[in-house]
Amino acid sequence: MTTLPEDPHDPANPTDPARASGEVGERLADTLESAVLADAAKILDGAVDPEEIASMDQLDAPRRVLFVHAHPDDETIGNGATMARYVAKGAHVTLVTCTLGEEGEVLVPELAHLAADQEDSLGRQRVHELATAMEALGVTDHRFLGGVGRYRDSGMMGLASNERPDSFWQADLDQAAGQLVAVIREVRPQVLVTYDEKGGYGHPDHIQAHRVAMRAVDLAGDDAYGEDEPWQIAKVYWNLLPRSVIQRWIEALREQGSNFFEVESADELPFAAPDELVTTVVDAVTHVEAKLAAMRAHATQIAVDGPFFALSNNIGLQAWGLEYYRCVKGEAIPDPEDPDGRETDLFAGVV
Ligand SMILES: [Zn+2]
Repeated sequence: MTTLPEDPHDPANPTDPARASGEVGERLADTLESAVLADAAKILDGAVDPEEIASMDQLDAPRRVLFVHAHPDDETIGNGATMARYVAKGAHVTLVTCTLGEEGEVLVPELAHLAADQEDSLGRQRVHELATAMEALGVTDHRFLGGVGRYRDSGMMGLASNERPDSFWQADLDQAAGQLVAVIREVRPQVLVTYDEKGGYGHPDHIQAHRVAMRAVDLAGDDAYGEDEPWQIAKVYWNLLPRSVIQRWIEALREQGSNFFEVESADELPFAAPDELVTTVVDAVTHVEAKLAAMRAHATQIAVDGPFFALSNNIGLQAWGLEYYRCVKGEAIPDPEDPDGRETDLFAGVV
């Protein structure tokens, strides 16, 4: 259930090299449009229940980690390699995504008509993209907070879409946290990963996902809350992108003639975090291929022919295979083998 199709030229195979070439546009027009939307419709109509597909013996896995993200694609960009690594190690990996990403830009011209200001059907497309990405990472337990389409993408900060009553930004915090508590008490993860209080870079849905996740961590462990057995999450992490790492990317891209970040210095980027906040680095370089396949699956959102994908081998592997965290609940246990004295396993110290 977690293996990729064997035929490298199978259109359903996100590792198909052709998908990274110019053929991708034509193929998307043919396949994503019909088959993909049909699949997404099946999920949306309840014919396929992603929660049911998830392993029923999840509690048998001794190590369980829950990722809480705002939109389909955030999980892959921020944690894709980590997710693939822990799946490969036999951990139970759960993803909760809070919105369908309906307000996202569409980078595939053939699918531009799905955008919020046109047909407003991008959410269905992104449900399928997420399912394909999770297949690439081997994650079988992925859910939407409160069910598919319960909360709508709020769009970038300051836009009118922030005010829509169905937007995640307008969600009642305790109600949304309660929906996450149900997942936490069912899955019983020792580790939860989400954004920092700024939502990484300030998107309202990322900020809200942070608030909901942190509130749910508290409520899930409170035996006075709800009827299910309480569950204390041992360790909570926030995703971080350290400034020094971003600066290396800027310079490497510049050497290749690309001004991808459009700045000279990482200091100008809102998501560059002080290096000293990093407690933990997960080295999942051996899972970069799975992460890249998952990124390609998010075809409407991530331009796979962009300069970032062309980063020369070593920097590219490091860029995609090392993921950084700040431990904010529980204790980060430094790995004596890490040159910077950081923790290297999200489960370190978990008994
Ligand atoms: Zn996002």
